Amino acid sequence: MQVWDVIVVGAGQAGLSAAHHLKVRGLETLVLDANEAPGGAWQHRWDSLTMADVHGVADLPDASAPPTSRERANRVVPGYFADYERRQDLQVRRPVRVDRVESVGDLLEVSGVAGNGDEQHWITRSLVNATGTWDRPFVPHYPGIETFGGEQFHTADYPGWNTCAASAYSLWAVAPARCSSSARSGRSPRRCG
Ligand SMILES: Cc1cc2nc3c(=O)[nH]c(=O)nc-3n(C[C@H](O)[C@H](O)[C@H](O)COP(=O)(O)OP(=O)(O)OC[C@H]3O[C@@H](n4cnc5c(N)ncnc54)[C@H](O)[C@@H]3O)c2cc1C
Repeated sequence: MQVWDVIVVGAGQAGLSAAHHLKVRGLETLVLDANEAPGGAWQHRWDSLTMADVHGVADLPDASAPPTSRERANRVVPGYFADYERRQDLQVRRPVRVDRVESVGDLLEVSGVAGNGDEQHWITRSLVNATGTWDRPFVPHYPGIETFGGEQFHTADYPGWNTCAASAYSLWAVAPARCSSSARSGRSPRRCG
């Protein structure tokens, strides 16, 4: 079985940046990603979020991020990531959900489940965990959370402003996006992507 220098788990911004820098240094690097398609968490953002709403997407190394536009962020950014994987010739395997990492002597055995349900294994000298937070949303407590009568969303489930219009809502977000202070609630939602 091939021994990789580095396995990076996660092909979001963090994983792709890490993979790029490792490759530049001549390290045999494999990226394993649980999503069906490129784009990390960005592919799961709500449809009404445009490139004009986002806070500013950080550049991947040696590749400028897409400009502001009225295009959907959940299409533009995944397209940018897909193009980056191709141009940088990064080795990305998906969908693979890594569920175990075990020591085997001085090496690590990484195990995961592929899209067809098969369990797969890789051997590596080192590992980078770049799995992000999207899959494990944290919902903080706030005063009144139990009695608030409207719908409450974490950004991971937020359907978009047009779906929420004219209803009471509470929105939780943890990132510095334009609409995402630690909490917002209201009855006539201001458009925030
Ligand atoms: C609502 C919101 C708005 C934001 N707005 C902006 C913005 O405007 N501008 C900006 O620059 N940033 C923004 N961010 C932050 C930015 O999206 C994140 O910081 C960035 O996506 C994090 O990248 P990441 O690579 O760490 O994680 P992710 O993009 O989440 O990528 C992690 C990858 O790891 C994979 N993964 C997870 N678990 C496993 C596993 N067990 N096995 C294999 N693969 C796995 C996932 O499938 C995913 O592809 C926002 C975040 C949120 C939540």
